[in-house]
Amino acid sequence: MEKRELLYEGKAKKLYLTDDKELVISEFKDDLTAFNGLKKASEAGKGALNNKISTELFKLLDSKGIPTHFVKMLDDNHMLHKKVDVILIEVIVRNIATGSLSKNLGLTDGMVLPFTLVEFDYKNDELGDPKLNDQHALILGLVKYQDELDKIRRMAREINDILRPYFADKGLNLVDFKLEFGKDSSGNIILVDEISPDNCRFWDMTTGEKMDKDRFRQGLGGLKMAYEEVLNRILGK
Ligand code: 5GP
Repeated sequence: MEKRELLYEGKAKKLYLTDDKELVISEFKDDLTAFNGLKKASEAGKGALNNKISTELFKLLDSKGIPTHFVKMLDDNHMLHKKVDVILIEVIVRNIATGSLSKNLGLTDGMVLPFTLVEFDYKNDELGDPKLNDQHALILGLVKYQDELDKIRRMAREINDILRPYFADKGLNLVDFKLEFGKDSSGNIILVDEISPDNCRFWDMTTGEKMDKDRFRQGLGGLKMAYEEVLNRILGK
């Protein structure tokens, strides 16, 4: 598979065309950003860890019948995947109140939610990723039909139903996470982007320690060690 010209550079990944028009390559970067780009850093090896973690989780979800863009991991920092039209909705799934949910609604940090909450944010850096309801998403034309939003919500819950017990088995509490979806060349809605400690919150079930990007957001240090620990638990090491 030949890596061709750069198509797009995001905060955490670069996207390259290939010699196959249906496939693209993501290069996972070591860059970290938070607070709408106001806080920035780089951590050598972070990109490779996220590539490996995402690869394992996409394989797991594929095996459970969740359609994803994943094709294969090419090397430490590169993943081959399907080219899709990304739906500009960040789908946030929450099992425990923390982060912006606690801040916005005054819910006690760490409160187990009575049911899994699925929220939509508009994927738009200039506007600061504001909250969306279904009508907003339809007015903005992010999808055409209500049933597409229903499908995205249903898939997000199915993914949580797979990942939450999977991580609990490995001593990690899946607190919340962000998913992105896209449409493949046949118009099917599939899971895209990455699933990694950059966009999931993992709390160690014994110590309560944060094992995710909050270590950077909150200046706690030890980010790479935490990501390595997440990968090792996934690999059963
Ligand atoms: P919160 O809304 O509490 O800041 O984030 C909820 C969850 O979604 C967290 O797991 C967080 O990592 C993820 N998340 C929300 N927005 C973004 C985003 O723009 N980028 C990334 N990488 N993760 C996000």
